[in-house]
Amino acid sequence: MNRPLLAVVGLGLIGGSIAASLKSRGAPWRVRAVDRRRSTLDYALRRGLADEATDSLAEGVRDAELVVLATPVRSIRDLVVEAAGWLVPGQVLTDVGSTKQTIVEAARAALPPGVAFVGGHPVAGTEHSGVESAVPGLFEGRPCVLTPVADTPTEAVAAVTRLWEALGAEVVCLDPATHDRVFALVSHLPHAVAYSLVNTVAPRLGSREAGLAGGSLADVVRVTRSPAAVWRDVCMENREPLLWAVDQFAERLAELRAAIEGADEAALDDFFHRASESRAALWRV
Ligand code: NAP
Repeated sequence: MNRPLLAVVGLGLIGGSIAASLKSRGAPWRVRAVDRRRSTLDYALRRGLADEATDSLAEGVRDAELVVLATPVRSIRDLVVEAAGWLVPGQVLTDVGSTKQTIVEAARAALPPGVAFVGGHPVAGTEHSGVESAVPGLFEGRPCVLTPVADTPTEAVAAVTRLWEALGAEVVCLDPATHDRVFALVSHLPHAVAYSLVNTVAPRLGSREAGLAGGSLADVVRVTRSPAAVWRDVCMENREPLLWAVDQFAERLAELRAAIEGADEAALDDFFHRASESRAALWRV
């Protein structure tokens, strides 16, 4: 049986983990690594993450049944436009970007008829980056959100679903706007808060005092290890939902500040109780 050809463009943490996971799970795909860096391609071939490799996008997408764009979110938009010149009807393009609406709109505007785009976002990752950080099995048991729109062909959604199921992920479909609003709350705001917290606390501490920090600060600091470009791009691509989420957060912080300033014990009790009840109801942790 001919194995379908998957082209993975951008072999970083996520692209590398897709390739590594297909191999480790024995999935029947032929994997072509496409990256701008020769050393990344050599690493992928040496470690058996890919069957073939190229630094040319035109060559990379040729004859691939499915093409996955796995670069930072703003470059995904540029690559969709560039790849549009090489893709032919019947091919399916997808991505892994953490924001969806601007990417889906760019794809709808750029792709020729017969080339389908299905937005994708695996909800899995680490704070590391680059192909050396690739994790086989990263997506097992994790959700992967797909964002088809009204005119996305069902066969294209099925093809992308087959890929994620082969990786052990559980596919969930959302429309792009809902995706961006939900992820502004569950991912982008928490990262924005973590970076703001580090920028608040760190300049006020010497190294001896910083050593007194407990596990709660360490957990927050850990998520600020991602490359700056990743979160710059997310802020630029998901501006409206993120601004809304930041405003909601600012209101809660103002509520807490007012309760502390007014030495209002009842308001403080209510503030912490509400969070505790929500946590137990939604996350059971
Ligand atoms: P990464 O480890 O930094 O890998 C990015 C890859 O894209 C690298 O191979 C990089 O090559 C290449 N690249 C960067 N800019 C490029 C450009 N302008 N043109 C072509 N190639 C470019 O990043 P990642 O964490 O895998 O993230 C990739 C995507 O996954 C992002 O869209 C992100 O939103 C999404 N995502 C990430 C996570 C996570 O936890 N990390 C989770 C879910 C989704 P160089 O080495 O040459 O820069």
